Amino acid sequence: MPIKDLQKNKPGLARAGVIRLGYKVKKCNKCKEQNYAGAVKCKCGNTKFGKIYPIPADHFVLTDAPGVTEAIKNPKPTELRIYLPFNGIEQNFPAYHQYWVASALICRGDGEHIQYGINPQSGDIIIRDGQAIKDFETKDGKFRAGDIMTCPGMTHDTYTKCQHCKPNAMLIVLLRDMPRLAYYQIATTSIHNIVNLTEQLTYIQETIGRLQGVPFILKLRSRKISVPKNGGGRMRTEKYLLSLEVDPEWVQRLFTTQNQLANPERQLLSETTIDDDIIDIELSQQPPSQSSYSQIEPPVWIPPNGNDDSDEPDEDDYETTDLDRFYKHVLDTISWYTDPNHISDTMTQLELVYNLDDEESIYDSLAQHANAAADAEADAVA
Ligand SMILES: [Zn+2]
Ligand SMILES: [Zn+2]
Repeated sequence: MPIKDLQKNKPGLARAGVIRLGYKVKKCNKCKEQNYAGAVKCKCGNTKFGKIYPIPADHFVLTDAPGVTEAIKNPKPTELRIYLPFNGIEQNFPAYHQYWVASALICRGDGEHIQYGINPQSGDIIIRDGQAIKDFETKDGKFRAGDIMTCPGMTHDTYTKCQHCKPNAMLIVLLRDMPRLAYYQIATTSIHNIVNLTEQLTYIQETIGRLQGVPFILKLRSRKISVPKNGGGRMRTEKYLLSLEVDPEWVQRLFTTQNQLANPERQLLSETTIDDDIIDIELSQQPPSQSSYSQIEPPVWIPPNGNDDSDEPDEDDYETTDLDRFYKHVLDTISWYTDPNHISDTMTQLELVYNLDDEESIYDSLAQHANAAADAEADAVA
C-alpha cells in the first residue's frame, strides 16, 4: 500500500512531446501572403502582420516533438508507427465537451453530466461529478447545491457557459520508433476524428481483445467532407482526418497463428516458428497481467486548448477560406460591423472562437451583440 499522504500523485507516463495537426500562421498586412507565426519580415519586406491563427496541415507537425524527425527520418510524416499505452479507450483517447478561457477550464462534460464547472467570475468550483456543489445563478436560472447538472453535449444549451463547450479530445501515443516509456499527445476538436477514432478503437478492442502493445499505424488522410453552407444547403470541404490501423504485418502474423491454432497438425509442423508474438497473442486472452506497464496510471489530461497548449492549432477551426467567407457574410448582412477586424475583435470580446460547425451560433451571437451595441449607441445619441 502506498503512503497515502506522500504518494498522492500516482506514477504517470512522462510526456515526451506534442504532435500537432497544423501550424500557426499570420497574414502579411501588405501582400496578404501567409507567413509562419514566428516570421519577423514578409517576403515583400513588410514587417506588419495580422492576427495569428492556426491552419491545418496535411502531415503530422513535429516541431514540438523533439528527436522524432531524426528517428523516423521524415520531418513531415503522414503516418506514424505507434503503440497505445493503455487498454481502455477512455485512457488512450480522453474526450470531453469542454470550454476553456485562456488557461482555465470553465466547464467539462461527458455528454450526460457536467463533471466539472466553475463560476468564471469568482473562480469557485460550482459543479463536480454531475452535481451542483454550491448555489449559483446564471441568466438561465437558479441552481441549488445538490442539483443534478446534465451536460447538453452537442446542443450546448443547458446554461450560459455550456453554449461555449465544444468537443475536445486527445490521443495519447507511444512512438514505436522512439523506444521510451513517454507519451506524445495529439489534440483534436474535430467531431469526425473523435467519432472515427472511437469507432476504430472500439472495433480493434473487441476484435483483438486489447489495445496496449498492439502495433498501430496512425494516418493523417485527406477526406472530402460535406458541411452546412451559409444560407442553406451543404458544401464539400477538404479535411485531414486521423485514422488508425493495426499494422498489417502484425495482422498477417495474427492470422497465421489463428490458422495454426485451428489446425493442430500444422501447428505441430511449424512449432519451431512459434515466437514471442504468438505467445503474446495467446496471453491476451487472459486477464490483464500485473506488469509494471499495466500499473501505469493514465497521465494527467492536458487540455488541448489550455495551459501550455493554448496555441494548439486545431484542424477544424480557423480555416482561412471559411473564416474569410464567414467575415464576408457577416459584413454583408450585419451593417453594424465595419470590417473583418471589427468582427474579430468582437469575437474576442465575446470569447467566441471561429469554428465551421458553430458558424450559426457564432453568427447569432454577433448579430445579438450588434443589435445591443447599436441600441446603446442610439440611446447615447438621444
Ligand atoms: Zn507581404
Ligand atoms: Zn459545458
